[in-house]
Amino acid sequence: MMIKIAHLYPDMLNLYGDRGNIITLKTRLNARNIGVQVDNITMGKTFNSDEYDMIFIGGGQDFEQDALLNDLKQGKDKELKKAVENGKVVLAICGGYQMLGRYYETYDGKRLDYLGILDFYTRGEEERMIGNYAFTTKEGIEIVGFENHSGRTYLSNGLEPLGTVIKGYGNNGEDKTEGVRYKNTFGTYSHGPVLPKNSRFADLLISLALENKYGKAELEPLDDTLELKAQKQAMSLYIK
Ligand code: GLN
Repeated sequence: MMIKIAHLYPDMLNLYGDRGNIITLKTRLNARNIGVQVDNITMGKTFNSDEYDMIFIGGGQDFEQDALLNDLKQGKDKELKKAVENGKVVLAICGGYQMLGRYYETYDGKRLDYLGILDFYTRGEEERMIGNYAFTTKEGIEIVGFENHSGRTYLSNGLEPLGTVIKGYGNNGEDKTEGVRYKNTFGTYSHGPVLPKNSRFADLLISLALENKYGKAELEPLDDTLELKAQKQAMSLYIK
């Protein structure tokens, strides 16, 4: 078995070690004797989403989000939309998550028109939402992470959030929603990076990718003693 991962803009969108998500996917796949190929898709590089099982986009600052917008609209936008609609596994963090929505209005009034793949928008405010935080997914997976964003994201009615905030701000600090979930696309504000800190979430993404490609996914359990201990520690130190 073999999983192919596209890492979009690894050189521009990599805040707070978001690249660690790729390392975790690789490690957890290899530990189960599943092959992995990761392609770095940078500016100017062609992206054909049909070639991939998983797509990862990290977070960035307003500056990078603006700088790559033009490149995104040269074809990567259509490929991403197709991937999302076809149920490919997509993980997008913070700035990358915001780009899946309709637009981002920065706190100083600049409007960046994004991809509109999912029906939500983001409005920045001067006061940033910063800190360790946690949320629960509908499967009951508790995720601990770190958020730092000026953008407040508002999902349209009917669009499912990724989780419910246990502590922290999440999408907007108002409605207790965090991130977005549509088909096999997951958007979240959680840096940290999210997957090494939350092995159950990493395995959910891996199972979905294997199910898509091979029709079934029975993941061999890994020894997550250390991962789970670290997660519990983070929860009790920072959150609960
Ligand atoms: N620029 C965005 C914001 O501040 C995203 C930041 C990030 O990716 N951490 O809202």
